[in-house]
Amino acid sequence: MDLKTTAARAAPDERAAVDAVLGPPDDDAARGATAARDRRHRLLPVLHAIQERVGWIGEGALNYVCTRLDVPPAEAYGVATFYAMFSTVPRAPFVVHLCDDIACRTAGAEAIAAALAARGGDARRATWLRSPCLGLCERAPAALVSAAGASSEHRAIAPATAAQLAALLDAAALDARPPSVAPQVYGSDRRLLRRVGRIDPESLDAYLADGGYDALRRALELGPARVVAEVVAANLLGRGGAAFPTGRKMEAVAAAAARPHYLVCNADESEPGTFKDRMLMEWDPFAVIEAMTIAGYAAGCAHGYIYVRGEYPLAAERLSHAIAAARARGLLGDDVLHAGVAFDIEIRRGAGAYICGEETALFNSIEGKRGEPRSKPPFPVEVGLFGKPTLVNNVETLANLPWIVLHGGAAYAATGTPGSTGTRLFCLAGTVQRPGLYEVPHGTRLDALIAMAGGVPDGRRLQAVLLGGAAGAFLGPSALQLPLTFEDARAAGATLGSGVVMLFDDGVDLREIVRRIARFFRDESCGQCVPCRVGTVRQEEALARLLDAAPGGDDAALLNEIGRAMRDASICGLGQTASNAIVSIVGALRT
Ligand code: SF4
Repeated sequence: MDLKTTAARAAPDERAAVDAVLGPPDDDAARGATAARDRRHRLLPVLHAIQERVGWIGEGALNYVCTRLDVPPAEAYGVATFYAMFSTVPRAPFVVHLCDDIACRTAGAEAIAAALAARGGDARRATWLRSPCLGLCERAPAALVSAAGASSEHRAIAPATAAQLAALLDAAALDARPPSVAPQVYGSDRRLLRRVGRIDPESLDAYLADGGYDALRRALELGPARVVAEVVAANLLGRGGAAFPTGRKMEAVAAAAARPHYLVCNADESEPGTFKDRMLMEWDPFAVIEAMTIAGYAAGCAHGYIYVRGEYPLAAERLSHAIAAARARGLLGDDVLHAGVAFDIEIRRGAGAYICGEETALFNSIEGKRGEPRSKPPFPVEVGLFGKPTLVNNVETLANLPWIVLHGGAAYAATGTPGSTGTRLFCLAGTVQRPGLYEVPHGTRLDALIAMAGGVPDGRRLQAVLLGGAAGAFLGPSALQLPLTFEDARAAGATLGSGVVMLFDDGVDLREIVRRIARFFRDESCGQCVPCRVGTVRQEEALARLLDAAPGGDDAALLNEIGRAMRDASICGLGQTASNAIVSIVGALRT
């Protein structure tokens, strides 16, 4: 390809960042342009490397990447500007990303934002930005600090205070690594969470001593077809929101004639209020790796990717350590457990784009393209990552596999209800006494779960519960007897979504919460299709008029109409669900 780049040239540190990922440029000539294009999937890791080394991605750096990967500059620019964590204009190397999303908002994020805005300081040296949900809701208010440089660092700070963040900005440096925070996990039937907080997440020996890899050994005894049959018998439905039967997907990929098959673990957990996959990755990373290996074995995949949210540095670090340790012990690689089975895992880090949680957008992101959803069909089981049959599931879904393999699908299906088998992780946050991650059997009532978490603070009255996340629905206090199953939620016009249960007591201004949700969808729409691109903007405008009692037409009716249009005509789930929570509560907010 005849690349037309500008005259801007990469600085030495920018070149060094790129070369650290792609290797020395001298090797490119030997590889040739075709090989360079085959490395297009390295684009996102390379952009990460520049951002982390320099703090932003300059024109010269982008030109150098384009030359090395044989990517047209317009396309590379399109990718670099797609992700919120990248900057293509000069930005300070030290950045505090302050979460101002719904959970952090209820915990005082706006007061922190006001204090930071009032603070002076050299913005070329250190700055702060607002961020959508960082997935740290159980410890709100939260911030993520990014320090660029030769040894870059990202660190979550939660709960954060204005004074603490101001001090970091003044110093433009992170202090010594803070002690690890104990995970806030609870529940009446802890299966997925049974190791969390109990064993060292960085010790493969501790994992093995606790029964780790027994399930993979059992899977190898059963053979791939029996593993798939047990997952089908378990009736394990996907935990990411779509609730598709996992066993059916596995069957389809295993039977697909085209090769190779890929496994993708969707760990781009970005639904506001959701932090369950982060907890699993941070506190039981070997279980995630083992579960992926079982899934890959069952579906005939030799290569797996785990796409981790860019905002989850600790999860990526612990997974990376777990993958290396498993590889060193022959638990990943060309001959897993000397069983003649090949399976290995690569980590890909997102860079701040909610839409990449949509499976086909995630494939595009891994492939080095803008994270825009594809039209379906074809479905991923036929044409997925790199155009090949792909089994894609989120972390929680896959984490159920070891239990199913060890105990059998029928035993798994004995918990919960026939339509909603097994246990479920729920993220309790907002104005709740004991925020954290709860594991309970499907069918547990919502009021029982809330009681388990201590309810709202003493002296307060529960105003509403957001069930399922920003794409879910608000429920009033009269609807809390709801059994937490897929079918009951559907019948109530709600969804379990990604397991969000966010409480708002009577001290919370719900109008501000709803405005934030509308802004979230407007920001996160990828803009590819008109109903969502325009609809999310019009929705925010109509909501503002309605809440401000501004003169105009019937904005409540307009919100319903916009919601219907987005639901019926949008390409993907983002547009189809962007009005759910708003429409579910807007009537109550007007009275
Ligand atoms: Fe993009 Fe929204 Fe269309 Fe999905 S519905 S493809 S997010 S514009």
